[in-house]
Amino acid sequence: MHDCPCGSGRTYGACCGRLHAGTAGAETAEALMRSRYSAFALGDTAYLLRTWHPDTRPARLDLAGERRWTGLEIVETSGGTAFHSSGTVAFRAHYRDPEGPGVQEETSEFLRIEGAWHYR
Ligand SMILES: [Zn+2]
Repeated sequence: MHDCPCGSGRTYGACCGRLHAGTAGAETAEALMRSRYSAFALGDTAYLLRTWHPDTRPARLDLAGERRWTGLEIVETSGGTAFHSSGTVAFRAHYRDPEGPGVQEETSEFLRIEGAWHYR
C-alpha cells in the first residue's frame, strides 16, 4: 500500500481513500482539507467538486496537468470539529511544475451542510 498523499503517515486506503470512495465522511474540516489535497494530487476532480460548497463551486474543474503536488503542511486550524458548523484551516501545499518547486499558502473556510464538511 502507498502512503497517503496528504502526509498523514497512514496508507491511502486507511486515510483519504475512504473519503474519495465515499465509504466514510470527513469528521473534521482538517480531514476534508487533507482529502481535497490528496484529490488534487491524484486528479480526482469529481471528489473536489462534490466537496465544494454550492455557493462557490465552479461548473467544471480543469487541473493543470503540469503541476505535481509534493507535500502538505497544516499550519493552523480553528473550529472545524464535530462540535462546529464551520472552521478554517491554514495550510502550505508544496508543488513542482516546469518552472521548479513552489508553495501555495492559503487559509480555507469550511462549512458543514447536513453534517458533511464542504470547502468554500
Ligand atoms: Zn490522507
